[in-house]
Amino acid sequence: MKSINTMYINGEFVTPHGTTTFDLINPVNNQKTGEAVLGDEIDTQNAITAAKEAFKTFSKTTKQERITYLEKLLVVISKREKDLTDIMVEEYGGTFQFCSMVTQNMINDINAMIDTLKDFDFEQTTGNSKVFLQSVGVVGIIIPWNMSNGFIVTKLSTAIAAGCTSVVKPSEMSTQQTQIMAECFHEAGLPKGVINFVNGLGDIVGAEITRNPDVSKIAFTGSTVVGKMIAKGAVDTMKRVTLELGGKSPNIILDDANLEEAVPTAIFAAYLNSGQACAAATRLLVPVSKLDEVNAIAKATVQNMKVGNPKDADTVVGPMVSKKQYERVLDYIRIGQKEGAVLLTGGTDKPEGLEEGNFVKATIFTNVNNNMRIAREEIFGPVLCIIPYNDEKHAVAIANDTDYGLAAYVSSGNKERAYRVASQIDAGRICINGISHDSKTPFGGFKQSGIGREYGVFGLEEYLEPKAILE
Ligand code: NAD
Repeated sequence: MKSINTMYINGEFVTPHGTTTFDLINPVNNQKTGEAVLGDEIDTQNAITAAKEAFKTFSKTTKQERITYLEKLLVVISKREKDLTDIMVEEYGGTFQFCSMVTQNMINDINAMIDTLKDFDFEQTTGNSKVFLQSVGVVGIIIPWNMSNGFIVTKLSTAIAAGCTSVVKPSEMSTQQTQIMAECFHEAGLPKGVINFVNGLGDIVGAEITRNPDVSKIAFTGSTVVGKMIAKGAVDTMKRVTLELGGKSPNIILDDANLEEAVPTAIFAAYLNSGQACAAATRLLVPVSKLDEVNAIAKATVQNMKVGNPKDADTVVGPMVSKKQYERVLDYIRIGQKEGAVLLTGGTDKPEGLEEGNFVKATIFTNVNNNMRIAREEIFGPVLCIIPYNDEKHAVAIANDTDYGLAAYVSSGNKERAYRVASQIDAGRICINGISHDSKTPFGGFKQSGIGREYGVFGLEEYLEPKAILE
Protein backbone atom coordinates (compact mmCIF):
# COMPACT_ATOMS: atom_id res chain seq x y z
CA MET A 1 0.00 0.00 0.00
CA LYS A 2 1.28 3.44 -0.90
CA SER A 3 1.42 6.21 1.65
CA ILE A 4 1.73 9.93 0.91
CA ASN A 5 2.32 11.33 4.37
CA THR A 6 4.44 14.44 3.88
CA MET A 7 4.04 17.77 2.18
CA TYR A 8 6.64 20.25 1.02
CA ILE A 9 6.81 23.39 3.15
CA ASN A 10 9.71 25.81 3.60
CA GLY A 11 12.18 23.62 1.73
CA GLU A 12 11.43 20.41 3.65
CA PHE A 13 9.17 17.39 3.39
CA VAL A 14 7.22 17.74 6.65
CA THR A 15 4.56 15.73 8.46
CA PRO A 16 1.24 17.54 8.01
CA HIS A 17 -0.68 18.98 10.94
CA GLY A 18 -3.85 17.66 9.26
CA THR A 19 -4.75 14.05 9.95
CA THR A 20 -7.61 13.33 7.53
CA THR A 21 -6.75 10.61 5.05
CA PHE A 22 -7.83 10.24 1.45
CA ASP A 23 -7.99 6.87 -0.33
CA LEU A 24 -5.88 6.46 -3.44
CA ILE A 25 -8.00 4.53 -5.95
CA ASN A 26 -6.80 3.08 -9.23
CA PRO A 27 -9.35 4.19 -11.89
CA VAL A 28 -8.58 1.14 -14.05
CA ASN A 29 -10.08 -1.29 -11.50
CA ASN A 30 -11.32 0.83 -8.57
CA GLN A 31 -8.93 -0.96 -6.18
CA LYS A 32 -7.52 0.99 -3.27
CA THR A 33 -3.76 1.39 -3.69
CA GLY A 34 -2.94 3.50 -0.65
CA GLU A 35 -3.70 6.61 1.38
CA ALA A 36 -2.69 10.25 1.40
CA VAL A 37 -2.72 12.46 4.49
CA LEU A 38 -4.39 15.78 3.73
CA GLY A 39 -3.33 19.17 5.03
CA ASP A 40 -5.50 21.60 6.97
CA GLU A 41 -5.67 25.35 7.60
CA ILE A 42 -2.58 25.26 9.84
CA ASP A 43 -0.51 23.53 7.15
CA THR A 44 -1.72 26.11 4.65
CA GLN A 45 -0.87 29.01 6.96
CA ASN A 46 2.60 27.54 7.57
CA ALA A 47 3.17 27.34 3.81
CA ILE A 48 1.93 30.92 3.29
CA THR A 49 4.18 32.20 6.10
CA ALA A 50 7.17 30.45 4.51
CA ALA A 51 6.32 31.95 1.11
CA LYS A 52 5.86 35.42 2.63
CA GLU A 53 9.27 35.25 4.31
CA ALA A 54 10.97 33.93 1.16
CA PHE A 55 9.37 36.69 -0.93
CA LYS A 56 11.45 39.33 0.87
CA THR A 57 14.63 38.09 -0.78
CA PHE A 58 13.33 36.17 -3.81
CA SER A 59 11.54 39.23 -5.19
CA LYS A 60 14.92 41.03 -5.19
CA THR A 61 16.72 38.36 -7.25
CA THR A 62 18.08 39.35 -10.62
CA LYS A 63 16.78 38.15 -13.94
CA GLN A 64 19.91 36.03 -14.36
CA GLU A 65 19.42 34.35 -10.97
CA ARG A 66 15.85 33.41 -11.88
CA ILE A 67 16.98 32.11 -15.27
CA THR A 68 19.56 29.94 -13.49
CA TYR A 69 16.86 28.48 -11.21
CA LEU A 70 14.64 27.72 -14.21
CA GLU A 71 17.55 26.09 -16.02
CA LYS A 72 18.21 23.86 -13.00
CA LEU A 73 14.53 22.96 -12.90
CA LEU A 74 14.66 22.09 -16.58
CA VAL A 75 17.52 19.65 -15.98
CA VAL A 76 15.69 17.91 -13.11
CA ILE A 77 12.33 17.70 -14.92
CA SER A 78 14.01 16.33 -18.05
CA LYS A 79 15.75 13.69 -15.91
CA ARG A 80 12.46 12.67 -14.26
CA GLU A 81 10.42 12.72 -17.51
CA LYS A 82 9.60 9.02 -17.38
CA ASP A 83 8.58 9.06 -13.69
CA LEU A 84 6.40 12.10 -14.30
CA THR A 85 4.64 10.43 -17.23
CA ASP A 86 4.20 7.07 -15.52
CA ILE A 87 2.67 8.52 -12.38
CA MET A 88 0.08 10.46 -14.39
CA VAL A 89 -0.96 7.27 -16.16
CA GLU A 90 -1.13 5.38 -12.89
CA GLU A 91 -2.80 7.97 -10.68
CA TYR A 92 -5.66 9.32 -12.78
CA GLY A 93 -5.64 6.95 -15.75
CA GLY A 94 -4.42 9.48 -18.32
CA THR A 95 -3.41 7.69 -21.51
CA PHE A 96 0.28 7.15 -22.10
CA GLN A 97 -0.10 9.07 -25.41
CA PHE A 98 -1.53 12.12 -23.66
CA CYS A 99 0.70 12.02 -20.58
CA SER A 100 3.90 11.75 -22.66
CA MET A 101 2.80 14.84 -24.55
CA VAL A 102 2.13 16.69 -21.28
CA THR A 103 5.59 15.96 -19.86
CA GLN A 104 7.20 17.01 -23.13
CA ASN A 105 5.16 20.24 -22.97
CA MET A 106 6.42 20.85 -19.41
CA ILE A 107 9.96 20.93 -20.77
CA ASN A 108 8.92 23.18 -23.66
CA ASP A 109 7.06 25.49 -21.26
CA ILE A 110 10.07 25.99 -18.99
CA ASN A 111 12.30 26.63 -22.00
CA ALA A 112 9.78 29.14 -23.34
CA MET A 113 9.61 30.94 -19.99
CA ILE A 114 13.40 31.17 -19.88
CA ASP A 115 13.34 32.79 -23.35
CA THR A 116 10.51 35.11 -22.35
CA LEU A 117 12.40 36.20 -19.25
CA LYS A 118 15.60 36.85 -21.21
CA ASP A 119 13.75 39.29 -23.46
CA PHE A 120 11.55 40.86 -20.80
CA ASP A 121 12.20 44.33 -19.45
CA PHE A 122 11.14 44.89 -15.84
CA GLU A 123 11.74 48.64 -16.26
CA GLN A 124 9.92 50.23 -19.14
CA THR A 125 9.29 53.76 -20.37
CA THR A 126 5.88 55.05 -21.39
CA GLY A 127 5.53 58.68 -22.42
CA ASN A 128 7.91 60.60 -20.14
CA SER A 129 7.60 58.19 -17.24
CA LYS A 130 9.20 55.01 -15.99
CA VAL A 131 7.09 51.93 -15.32
CA PHE A 132 8.49 49.28 -13.01
CA LEU A 133 7.02 45.78 -13.19
CA GLN A 134 7.12 44.58 -9.60
CA SER A 135 6.54 40.99 -8.37
CA VAL A 136 2.93 40.79 -7.20
CA GLY A 137 3.68 38.84 -3.97
CA VAL A 138 2.79 35.40 -2.66
CA VAL A 139 0.78 33.45 -5.26
CA GLY A 140 -1.77 30.79 -4.35
CA ILE A 141 -1.93 28.19 -7.11
CA ILE A 142 -5.08 26.04 -7.08
CA ILE A 143 -5.39 23.39 -9.76
CA PRO A 144 -7.48 20.42 -10.91
CA TRP A 145 -6.59 16.75 -11.29
CA ASN A 146 -6.72 16.45 -15.07
CA MET A 147 -3.20 17.60 -15.98
CA SER A 148 -1.95 18.52 -12.55
CA ASN A 149 1.80 18.69 -13.02
CA GLY A 150 1.45 20.42 -16.39
CA PHE A 151 -0.43 23.26 -14.66
CA ILE A 152 2.08 23.32 -11.81
CA VAL A 153 5.01 23.74 -14.17
CA THR A 154 3.37 26.47 -16.26
CA LYS A 155 2.29 28.48 -13.24
CA LEU A 156 5.41 27.98 -11.10
CA SER A 157 7.86 28.73 -13.90
CA THR A 158 5.98 31.99 -14.51
CA ALA A 159 5.91 32.79 -10.78
CA ILE A 160 9.68 32.16 -10.53
CA ALA A 161 10.33 34.33 -13.59
CA ALA A 162 8.31 37.12 -11.98
CA GLY A 163 10.12 36.84 -8.62
CA CYS A 164 7.01 35.60 -6.80
CA THR A 165 6.85 32.86 -4.19
CA SER A 166 4.05 30.31 -4.20
CA VAL A 167 1.83 27.91 -2.32
CA VAL A 168 0.40 25.18 -4.55
CA LYS A 169 -2.80 23.32 -3.73
CA PRO A 170 -3.29 20.48 -6.17
CA SER A 171 -6.39 18.32 -6.27
CA GLU A 172 -6.61 15.71 -3.54
CA MET A 173 -6.70 13.21 -6.44
CA SER A 174 -3.19 14.24 -7.55
CA THR A 175 -1.08 13.65 -4.44
CA GLN A 176 1.17 11.01 -6.05
CA GLN A 177 1.94 13.26 -9.01
CA THR A 178 2.53 16.18 -6.65
CA GLN A 179 5.00 14.16 -4.61
CA ILE A 180 7.28 13.67 -7.63
CA MET A 181 6.92 17.27 -8.70
CA ALA A 182 7.83 18.50 -5.20
CA GLU A 183 10.93 16.29 -5.33
CA CYS A 184 11.87 17.95 -8.65
CA PHE A 185 11.54 21.46 -7.20
CA HIS A 186 13.51 20.41 -4.12
CA GLU A 187 16.29 18.98 -6.25
CA ALA A 188 16.40 22.14 -8.37
CA GLY A 189 17.68 23.86 -5.25
CA LEU A 190 15.31 26.82 -5.03
CA PRO A 191 15.69 28.80 -1.80
CA LYS A 192 13.49 27.50 1.02
CA GLY A 193 9.95 28.83 1.05
CA VAL A 194 9.92 29.90 -2.61
CA ILE A 195 7.77 26.92 -3.58
CA ASN A 196 5.44 25.08 -1.17
CA PHE A 197 2.97 22.27 -1.82
CA VAL A 198 -0.03 21.57 0.42
CA ASN A 199 -2.22 18.57 -0.40
CA GLY A 200 -5.80 18.99 0.71
CA LEU A 201 -9.43 19.66 0.00
CA GLY A 202 -10.74 22.72 -1.79
CA ASP A 203 -13.03 23.89 0.99
CA ILE A 204 -10.19 23.65 3.54
CA VAL A 205 -6.80 24.34 1.97
CA GLY A 206 -8.21 26.17 -1.09
CA ALA A 207 -10.51 28.28 1.07
CA GLU A 208 -7.63 29.29 3.39
CA ILE A 209 -5.53 30.38 0.39
CA THR A 210 -8.50 32.37 -0.92
CA ARG A 211 -9.11 34.31 2.30
CA ASN A 212 -5.55 34.63 3.68
CA PRO A 213 -4.44 38.30 3.53
CA ASP A 214 -0.80 37.34 2.93
CA VAL A 215 -1.64 35.86 -0.48
CA SER A 216 -1.61 38.56 -3.18
CA LYS A 217 -2.74 36.58 -6.20
CA ILE A 218 -4.53 33.37 -7.05
CA ALA A 219 -3.76 31.47 -10.22
CA PHE A 220 -6.63 29.02 -10.59
CA THR A 221 -7.39 26.30 -13.10
CA GLY A 222 -10.60 24.37 -12.64
CA SER A 223 -14.34 24.51 -13.07
CA THR A 224 -16.25 27.71 -13.72
CA VAL A 225 -18.36 27.15 -10.57
CA VAL A 226 -15.34 26.94 -8.25
CA GLY A 227 -13.54 29.72 -10.13
CA LYS A 228 -16.42 32.08 -9.38
CA MET A 229 -16.37 31.14 -5.68
CA ILE A 230 -12.65 31.84 -5.52
CA ALA A 231 -12.98 35.18 -7.34
CA LYS A 232 -15.76 36.25 -4.94
CA GLY A 233 -13.68 35.26 -1.89
CA ALA A 234 -10.49 36.79 -3.25
CA VAL A 235 -11.97 40.24 -3.69
CA ASP A 236 -12.26 40.76 0.09
CA THR A 237 -8.47 41.05 0.28
CA MET A 238 -8.29 42.44 -3.28
CA LYS A 239 -6.21 39.55 -4.58
CA ARG A 240 -5.39 39.49 -8.25
CA VAL A 241 -6.91 36.44 -9.94
CA THR A 242 -6.33 34.53 -13.11
CA LEU A 243 -9.00 31.96 -13.82
CA GLU A 244 -8.59 29.18 -16.38
CA LEU A 245 -12.03 27.61 -16.44
CA GLY A 246 -14.25 25.29 -18.42
CA GLY A 247 -15.01 25.08 -22.11
CA LYS A 248 -17.32 23.72 -24.80
CA SER A 249 -15.07 24.31 -27.72
CA PRO A 250 -16.38 24.37 -31.30
CA ASN A 251 -14.55 22.71 -34.16
CA ILE A 252 -15.74 24.01 -37.53
CA ILE A 253 -15.08 21.82 -40.53
CA LEU A 254 -15.56 24.00 -43.61
CA ASP A 255 -17.00 22.54 -46.81
CA ASP A 256 -13.62 22.60 -48.60
CA ALA A 257 -11.81 20.53 -45.94
CA ASN A 258 -10.44 17.07 -46.62
CA LEU A 259 -12.87 15.04 -44.49
CA GLU A 260 -10.67 11.94 -44.40
CA GLU A 261 -8.12 14.01 -42.48
CA ALA A 262 -10.27 16.53 -40.67
CA VAL A 263 -12.80 14.11 -39.12
CA PRO A 264 -10.31 11.71 -37.44
CA THR A 265 -8.37 14.75 -36.18
CA ALA A 266 -11.61 16.19 -34.83
CA ILE A 267 -12.30 12.99 -32.93
CA PHE A 268 -8.82 12.97 -31.46
CA ALA A 269 -9.35 16.63 -30.40
CA ALA A 270 -12.67 15.76 -28.76
CA TYR A 271 -11.24 12.80 -26.85
CA LEU A 272 -8.12 14.61 -25.69
CA ASN A 273 -7.21 13.30 -22.23
CA SER A 274 -10.10 10.80 -22.58
CA GLY A 275 -12.39 13.82 -23.00
CA GLN A 276 -11.26 15.23 -19.66
CA ALA A 277 -9.67 18.35 -21.11
CA CYS A 278 -10.81 21.94 -20.82
CA ALA A 279 -9.86 22.64 -24.45
CA ALA A 280 -11.43 19.45 -25.85
CA ALA A 281 -13.19 20.12 -29.16
CA THR A 282 -16.54 18.74 -28.05
CA ARG A 283 -18.83 20.45 -30.59
CA LEU A 284 -18.08 19.39 -34.15
CA LEU A 285 -19.77 21.76 -36.61
CA VAL A 286 -20.16 20.28 -40.11
CA PRO A 287 -21.93 21.40 -43.32
CA VAL A 288 -25.38 19.82 -43.42
CA SER A 289 -24.64 18.66 -47.00
CA LYS A 290 -21.71 16.59 -45.68
CA LEU A 291 -23.38 15.23 -42.54
CA ASP A 292 -23.80 11.65 -43.81
CA GLU A 293 -20.21 11.48 -45.01
CA VAL A 294 -18.91 12.91 -41.71
CA ASN A 295 -21.04 10.44 -39.73
CA ALA A 296 -19.64 7.49 -41.68
CA ILE A 297 -15.98 8.55 -41.23
CA ALA A 298 -16.55 9.38 -37.56
CA LYS A 299 -18.15 6.03 -36.81
CA ALA A 300 -15.41 4.10 -38.60
CA THR A 301 -12.71 6.10 -36.79
CA VAL A 302 -14.17 5.33 -33.38
CA GLN A 303 -14.60 1.65 -34.21
CA ASN A 304 -10.86 1.42 -34.91
CA MET A 305 -9.92 3.39 -31.80
CA LYS A 306 -8.84 1.75 -28.59
CA VAL A 307 -10.63 2.40 -25.31
CA GLY A 308 -8.68 0.56 -22.64
CA ASN A 309 -5.69 0.32 -20.39
CA PRO A 310 -4.08 3.77 -20.32
CA LYS A 311 -0.61 2.21 -20.12
CA ASP A 312 -0.95 0.78 -23.64
CA ALA A 313 0.69 3.05 -26.18
CA ASP A 314 -2.23 2.71 -28.63
CA THR A 315 -5.01 3.56 -26.14
CA VAL A 316 -6.81 6.78 -27.04
CA VAL A 317 -9.47 6.76 -24.31
CA GLY A 318 -8.66 5.60 -20.79
CA PRO A 319 -10.88 5.48 -17.70
CA MET A 320 -12.59 8.47 -16.11
CA VAL A 321 -10.68 9.72 -13.08
CA SER A 322 -13.28 8.60 -10.51
CA LYS A 323 -16.58 6.79 -10.15
CA LYS A 324 -18.24 10.17 -9.64
CA GLN A 325 -16.87 11.46 -12.96
CA TYR A 326 -17.91 8.20 -14.66
CA GLU A 327 -21.49 8.58 -13.37
CA ARG A 328 -21.58 12.21 -14.47
CA VAL A 329 -20.57 11.32 -18.04
CA LEU A 330 -23.17 8.52 -18.18
CA ASP A 331 -25.84 10.93 -16.97
CA TYR A 332 -25.03 13.24 -19.87
CA ILE A 333 -25.28 10.37 -22.36
CA ARG A 334 -28.75 9.61 -20.99
CA ILE A 335 -29.65 13.32 -21.21
CA GLY A 336 -28.55 13.38 -24.86
CA GLN A 337 -30.74 10.37 -25.63
CA LYS A 338 -33.74 11.98 -23.91
CA GLU A 339 -33.15 15.25 -25.74
CA GLY A 340 -33.49 13.40 -29.05
CA ALA A 341 -29.91 13.54 -30.31
CA VAL A 342 -28.99 10.56 -32.51
CA LEU A 343 -26.54 8.18 -30.84
CA LEU A 344 -24.11 7.40 -33.65
CA THR A 345 -21.82 5.21 -31.57
CA GLY A 346 -21.05 4.46 -27.91
CA GLY A 347 -23.63 4.70 -25.13
CA THR A 348 -24.00 3.84 -21.47
CA ASP A 349 -22.80 0.20 -21.46
CA LYS A 350 -19.32 -0.50 -20.13
CA PRO A 351 -16.88 -1.43 -22.90
CA GLU A 352 -16.37 -5.20 -22.99
CA GLY A 353 -13.63 -6.52 -20.71
CA LEU A 354 -13.33 -3.22 -18.85
CA GLU A 355 -16.19 -3.69 -16.38
CA GLU A 356 -14.09 -3.09 -13.24
CA GLY A 357 -12.85 0.39 -14.08
CA ASN A 358 -14.40 3.80 -14.80
CA PHE A 359 -14.46 3.23 -18.56
CA VAL A 360 -16.99 4.91 -20.85
CA LYS A 361 -17.47 3.93 -24.47
CA ALA A 362 -16.22 6.54 -26.94
CA THR A 363 -19.55 8.19 -27.71
CA ILE A 364 -20.77 10.38 -30.56
CA PHE A 365 -24.14 12.06 -30.86
CA THR A 366 -25.08 13.40 -34.28
CA ASN A 367 -27.77 15.77 -35.52
CA VAL A 368 -27.35 17.63 -32.26
CA ASN A 369 -29.09 20.95 -31.82
CA ASN A 370 -26.89 23.58 -30.20
CA ASN A 371 -29.64 24.33 -27.64
CA MET A 372 -29.46 20.82 -26.19
CA ARG A 373 -27.78 20.47 -22.79
CA ILE A 374 -25.18 18.09 -24.24
CA ALA A 375 -24.12 20.91 -26.59
CA ARG A 376 -24.09 23.62 -23.92
CA GLU A 377 -22.67 22.02 -20.77
CA GLU A 378 -19.17 20.75 -20.17
CA ILE A 379 -19.38 16.93 -19.93
CA PHE A 380 -15.67 16.20 -19.34
CA GLY A 381 -15.71 12.74 -20.88
CA PRO A 382 -15.47 11.07 -24.31
CA VAL A 383 -18.72 12.44 -25.70
CA LEU A 384 -18.70 14.33 -29.01
CA CYS A 385 -21.65 16.30 -30.42
CA ILE A 386 -21.89 16.65 -34.20
CA ILE A 387 -23.93 19.74 -35.09
CA PRO A 388 -24.93 20.47 -38.71
CA TYR A 389 -24.82 24.04 -40.12
CA ASN A 390 -26.17 25.63 -43.32
CA ASP A 391 -23.42 28.06 -44.33
CA GLU A 392 -20.27 29.73 -43.00
CA LYS A 393 -22.20 32.53 -41.25
CA HIS A 394 -24.40 29.97 -39.53
CA ALA A 395 -21.31 27.99 -38.43
CA VAL A 396 -19.76 31.06 -36.81
CA ALA A 397 -23.07 31.91 -35.11
CA ILE A 398 -23.32 28.39 -33.62
CA ALA A 399 -19.63 28.44 -32.60
CA ASN A 400 -20.19 31.68 -30.67
CA ASP A 401 -23.55 30.64 -29.23
CA THR A 402 -22.04 29.31 -26.00
CA ASP A 403 -21.33 30.59 -22.50
CA TYR A 404 -17.70 29.57 -22.93
CA GLY A 405 -14.81 30.81 -25.06
CA LEU A 406 -11.66 28.87 -24.26
CA ALA A 407 -10.59 27.26 -27.51
CA ALA A 408 -11.83 26.68 -31.05
CA TYR A 409 -10.72 24.79 -34.12
CA VAL A 410 -11.21 25.39 -37.86
CA SER A 411 -10.42 23.04 -40.74
CA SER A 412 -10.34 24.14 -44.35
CA GLY A 413 -8.46 23.46 -47.59
CA ASN A 414 -7.88 27.21 -47.81
CA LYS A 415 -5.79 28.75 -45.01
CA GLU A 416 -6.94 32.32 -45.71
CA ARG A 417 -10.53 31.25 -45.43
CA ALA A 418 -9.79 29.39 -42.20
CA TYR A 419 -8.16 32.54 -40.74
CA ARG A 420 -11.16 34.63 -41.78
CA VAL A 421 -13.51 32.26 -39.98
CA ALA A 422 -11.17 31.93 -36.96
CA SER A 423 -11.04 35.70 -36.55
CA GLN A 424 -14.82 35.78 -36.05
CA ILE A 425 -14.83 33.27 -33.18
CA ASP A 426 -14.77 34.53 -29.59
CA ALA A 427 -12.23 32.20 -28.00
CA GLY A 428 -8.81 32.57 -26.41
CA ARG A 429 -7.02 30.10 -28.67
CA ILE A 430 -8.01 28.93 -32.13
CA CYS A 431 -6.15 26.17 -33.98
CA ILE A 432 -6.27 25.81 -37.74
CA ASN A 433 -6.15 22.37 -39.38
CA GLY A 434 -5.30 20.35 -36.28
CA ILE A 435 -4.34 20.69 -32.63
CA SER A 436 -1.25 22.55 -31.60
CA HIS A 437 0.38 24.04 -28.53
CA ASP A 438 2.67 27.04 -28.42
CA SER A 439 4.36 27.70 -25.08
CA LYS A 440 4.84 31.43 -25.80
CA THR A 441 1.32 32.14 -27.01
CA PRO A 442 -1.43 33.32 -24.66
CA PHE A 443 -3.86 30.73 -23.35
CA GLY A 444 -7.06 31.61 -21.52
CA GLY A 445 -10.71 32.17 -22.01
CA PHE A 446 -13.33 34.61 -23.20
CA LYS A 447 -16.67 34.78 -21.32
CA GLN A 448 -17.27 32.05 -18.69
CA SER A 449 -13.99 30.34 -19.61
CA GLY A 450 -12.07 32.68 -17.37
CA ILE A 451 -10.09 35.82 -16.74
CA GLY A 452 -6.49 36.46 -17.75
CA ARG A 453 -3.93 34.61 -19.83
CA GLU A 454 -1.03 32.25 -19.27
CA TYR A 455 2.25 31.69 -21.17
CA GLY A 456 4.80 34.09 -22.59
CA VAL A 457 4.75 37.82 -21.93
CA PHE A 458 0.95 37.87 -21.44
CA GLY A 459 1.29 35.23 -18.74
CA LEU A 460 4.28 36.84 -17.05
CA GLU A 461 2.54 40.22 -16.77
CA GLU A 462 -0.26 38.57 -14.77
CA TYR A 463 2.28 37.99 -11.95
CA LEU A 464 3.54 41.58 -12.00
CA GLU A 465 2.18 44.86 -10.68
CA PRO A 466 2.99 47.92 -12.82
CA LYS A 467 4.29 50.89 -10.81
CA ALA A 468 4.64 54.18 -12.68
CA ILE A 469 7.02 56.86 -11.44
CA LEU A 470 6.39 60.26 -12.98
CA GLU A 471 8.66 63.26 -12.87
P1 NAD B 1 -12.72 21.87 -9.61
O1 NAD B 1 -13.09 23.27 -9.96
O2 NAD B 1 -13.71 21.03 -8.92
O3 NAD B 1 -11.42 21.87 -8.68
C1 NAD B 1 -10.26 22.60 -9.05
C2 NAD B 1 -9.45 22.89 -7.78
O4 NAD B 1 -10.20 23.78 -6.95
C3 NAD B 1 -9.17 21.64 -6.93
O5 NAD B 1 -7.86 21.71 -6.41
C4 NAD B 1 -10.20 21.77 -5.82
O6 NAD B 1 -9.83 21.12 -4.64
C5 NAD B 1 -10.24 23.28 -5.63
N1 NAD B 1 -11.43 23.77 -4.93
C6 NAD B 1 -12.65 23.19 -4.88
N2 NAD B 1 -13.48 23.93 -4.10
C7 NAD B 1 -12.76 25.01 -3.67
C8 NAD B 1 -13.06 26.12 -2.84
N3 NAD B 1 -14.25 26.27 -2.28
N4 NAD B 1 -12.09 27.02 -2.62
C9 NAD B 1 -10.87 26.88 -3.17
N5 NAD B 1 -10.52 25.84 -3.95
C10 NAD B 1 -11.46 24.91 -4.20
O7 NAD B 1 -12.24 21.22 -10.97
P2 NAD B 1 -11.87 19.70 -11.27
O8 NAD B 1 -13.10 18.87 -11.27
O9 NAD B 1 -10.73 19.30 -10.40
O10 NAD B 1 -11.32 19.84 -12.79
C11 NAD B 1 -12.16 19.88 -13.90
C12 NAD B 1 -12.51 21.30 -14.32
O11 NAD B 1 -11.32 22.05 -14.55
C13 NAD B 1 -13.27 21.36 -15.62
O12 NAD B 1 -14.31 22.28 -15.52
C14 NAD B 1 -12.23 21.85 -16.63
O13 NAD B 1 -12.73 22.50 -17.76
C15 NAD B 1 -11.43 22.76 -15.79
N6 NAD B 1 -10.11 22.94 -16.40
C16 NAD B 1 -9.80 24.13 -17.00
C17 NAD B 1 -8.57 24.28 -17.63
C18 NAD B 1 -8.17 25.59 -18.31
O14 NAD B 1 -6.98 25.80 -18.52
N7 NAD B 1 -9.10 26.44 -18.68
C19 NAD B 1 -7.68 23.23 -17.66
C20 NAD B 1 -8.04 22.03 -17.05
C21 NAD B 1 -9.26 21.90 -16.41
